[in-house]
Amino acid sequence: MKLYNSLTHTKDEFVTNEPGKVKMYTCGPTVYHFAHIGNLRTYIMEDALVRTLEYLGYDVLRVMNITDVGHLTGDSDDGEDKMLKGAKREHKTVMEIAKFYTDAFMKDCEALNIKRADIVQPATGCIREFIKMIKKLLDGGYAYVSGGNVYFDISKLDKYYVFGEHDAENLEVGVRDGVEEDTFKRNPADFALWFTKSKFEDQELKWGSPWGMGYPGWHIECSAISIKYCGERLDIHCGGIDNAFPHHTNEIAQSEAYLGHKWCNWWFHVLHLNTASGKMSKSKGEFLILDLLKEKGYDPLAYRFFCLQSHYRKPLVFSYEALDNAQTAYYKLRSKCSSLADGEEIDSEAFERMKADFCEAIGNDVNTSLAITCVYDVLKSETDDATKKALIKDFDRVLALDLTEPLPEKEKEADDPEILEQIALRAAAKKDKNYGEADRIRNELAARGIILVDTPQGTTYKRT
Ligand code: AMP
Ligand code: ZN
Repeated sequence: MKLYNSLTHTKDEFVTNEPGKVKMYTCGPTVYHFAHIGNLRTYIMEDALVRTLEYLGYDVLRVMNITDVGHLTGDSDDGEDKMLKGAKREHKTVMEIAKFYTDAFMKDCEALNIKRADIVQPATGCIREFIKMIKKLLDGGYAYVSGGNVYFDISKLDKYYVFGEHDAENLEVGVRDGVEEDTFKRNPADFALWFTKSKFEDQELKWGSPWGMGYPGWHIECSAISIKYCGERLDIHCGGIDNAFPHHTNEIAQSEAYLGHKWCNWWFHVLHLNTASGKMSKSKGEFLILDLLKEKGYDPLAYRFFCLQSHYRKPLVFSYEALDNAQTAYYKLRSKCSSLADGEEIDSEAFERMKADFCEAIGNDVNTSLAITCVYDVLKSETDDATKKALIKDFDRVLALDLTEPLPEKEKEADDPEILEQIALRAAAKKDKNYGEADRIRNELAARGIILVDTPQGTTYKRT
């Protein structure tokens, strides 16, 4: 399989530390609010990666954290604590907020057919591991205590900015209003590993540590949780592109300083979903969450289809018009796939040939849009229904679009554009006195359970 690596900026043959096994870590959500559909794009594309690896025969162990402490509104140790902000907004405790939005995130994932990671670990459950790691970084001279907080000293590394040439927009570190420079730091890019001098009087969650009562910085959680479950050598780390700097850069700095060797080989970054007016935001304009799309009548899987139609390394612009088109195309495709007749016998030559095309598409840097084209190619092919259905079921292990499931009831009632097209073709054939063709169309539809009803006003149809 070929996979782009944002650390080397090249697409290479994917290799793992242990043959056939993939250890993967994913930055999970900060559970202070609903995930917006931009966040969900990242999780959908990461899911496509996991499913691709499994489809190609890898045994994948996937770990995800839940950020329920330490993530400030600015990604560089500035701004307010996001969890506290959520708790204040809703007059609840931080833990109540964390539980509510973790559940909401899991519900969104389920609706989008995103597989749950094998291990989902809230950061507040690993404080001991964070402290152990910070202690070792201090002992090794990579960290220092200043003003009561512990910081990582980036000047101790030969190379800190490992991702190099991301463009300025992608390197943006988040909201910067009201930022005061942290005078405790030796170098401006040093980052906090542990805070005892909270910037907020009412910081709710604090733990005892060798440096006093306090709480962890955001970056340490991903390194410690990943090492705890995946061991010292990670195969792939995933996240949205905004996380490359400073979050992933800091993760690499502290993990490699702690381990004394290279930590993660492959970095998989998903480009952003934007609106026509710019960046997706939880605070400005319409808050685009999955529940809002559902309220407006969109199927979550139509949103998944919309995401899979473009490559993860390209930015994607969201509009309702684009989603309307995706939903129409999705239902049309699903209607065709689900009405294919089942059968015992399949044409194994055709099966293997078209499966190879699909593997080629998906195995080339998770090219999901080309993989969807393979589904259309199967439908257009000369082979029989049973082979087509078997192929599409197989491809759907990666696409996870429920393609061979019947359409939702409300969609079934609506006139299916593909059937209307067949009815129009039959009417045209009858007009041309080509009764053989007209009968062929009627019989073909009947075989799919679609019965034509001729009335003085025209032809309608019903399903058996
Ligand atoms: P957060 O909950 O803020 O920690 O973000 C969860 C995930 O969504 C991270 O991997 C982010 O990099 C990613 N992300 C944030 N904004 C967007 C966006 N507009 N489009 C795609 N992914 C995003
Ligand atoms: Zn992370």
